[in-house]
Amino acid sequence: MIVNTSGSHMSADRPANSPPIPELAHPTYQLAVAQFDRAADALNLDRNLRQRFRVPQRALTVGIPIRMDDGSVKVFMGYRVQHDLARGPTKGGIRYHPDVNLGNVTALAMWMTWKCALTGLPFGGAKGGVRVDPSQLSHSELERLTRRYVAEIFPLLGPDKDIPAPDIGTNAQIMAWVMDTYSQQMGYAVPGVVTGKPLAIGGSLGRADATGRGIADLTLEALHMWEIRNDHATVAIQGFGNVGSAAAKFLYDAGLRIVAISDLTGGLYNPKGLPIPEIIHRYYDQHEPLQALKVGEWITNDELLVTDATVLIPAAVSEQITEKNAGQLKCRLVIEAANGPTTLEADAILEEKGVLVIPDILANSGGVIVSYFEWVQDVQRFFWNETDVQHRLREIITRAFQRTLAFARQRNTSMRMAALMMGIEQVAEAHRLRGLYP
Ligand code: NAD
Repeated sequence: MIVNTSGSHMSADRPANSPPIPELAHPTYQLAVAQFDRAADALNLDRNLRQRFRVPQRALTVGIPIRMDDGSVKVFMGYRVQHDLARGPTKGGIRYHPDVNLGNVTALAMWMTWKCALTGLPFGGAKGGVRVDPSQLSHSELERLTRRYVAEIFPLLGPDKDIPAPDIGTNAQIMAWVMDTYSQQMGYAVPGVVTGKPLAIGGSLGRADATGRGIADLTLEALHMWEIRNDHATVAIQGFGNVGSAAAKFLYDAGLRIVAISDLTGGLYNPKGLPIPEIIHRYYDQHEPLQALKVGEWITNDELLVTDATVLIPAAVSEQITEKNAGQLKCRLVIEAANGPTTLEADAILEEKGVLVIPDILANSGGVIVSYFEWVQDVQRFFWNETDVQHRLREIITRAFQRTLAFARQRNTSMRMAALMMGIEQVAEAHRLRGLYP
């Protein structure tokens, strides 16, 4: 199914606040649209652009048949959504997860559009995914699934069209298969078609931990603004995956006390500070479960969120901070590593309490910023050293933070509203200048 909503058949009489189209109905999509509507109201955005931005420009749904190791054939559902192509090729991760559907992939693609515009990257937003639990597939089944998925969405992809990257459930090896499958079709190596690849085939130094590094850079920036010394600050992190563990490591190295971490099974709490390097070694290299580490008290994920800590970093899944727990949060700063971890109701409660929320589209932009660097290096065939990558990342992300903060203060609004308004306005300006085809 291809939904093409590039504009030519938009109905001028459709009310600006009509409900989202039914096939996208999903709480994450509704959250993304509700956030968009609020920012659009504040911007006084014209109703034609509003209609356009609420739905994706292109959405492709594919059935992916693969032969399983036992000889049977199984069909998985896959998606690739390009939310907006006005400012350049689209960019966004590929997620392998049992909850993937058209609605949440579209929401994630929309957030990518605002994120790229906010940080000044010349991309629109995209997202893709396959509804699958990758832990249930063998290595060779995972490879066949990836290659067939890429073959099915091939017409949308290309270094000047749409450039995927890793997300939940995918990794550098899977990106290598994406690059190889695309390159086999073209007949030559095309490293710029995907980012988050291994270094040997055009990956960038500093990409793997870029999102966690960006989270750490912004946490330190906020503490500096409040004149809080690093060794006086404490941190709780929900989700100890790629992003959460990297953020923990950088903040630990900067002298902050990480008092709580968690994964899907639950969390560890130690008010004196957790030994992060030891935990990373035992959890990742020796594959010991968190609960077996015995370096702190065992707590639930709900308890982690209301831990007494200066900084809370939700780095797991969406809709974790809700109206049920927002009032009990004890932190001064929430920095959203995950996409959509805070509901609209919780946002209002946190604003009332004076908790600063650095929103997802700003906080976790380190990943797409260094993906942009990887793409630039691939298309130029000129590679940078790690110090260059880190400095340029810090420069872009802290500039975006300062600009968003200044805008929020000037408009007397939240950082989330400011970030959304700035991102949306950039995309709206591109549409105004390009006009409506035909
Ligand atoms: P990951 O799969 O490596 O880690 C996710 C972590 O969250 C794991 O520790 C997992 O056990 C835990 N978790 C999963 N479900 C949970 C639940 N219901 N409650 C508590 N913990 C749970 O994923 P990641 O790459 O670290 O991404 C984490 C978040 O950051 C996601 O929301 C992702 O969209 C977002 N993000 C990631 C990147 C990136 O570069 N990887 C970039 C931008 C945003």
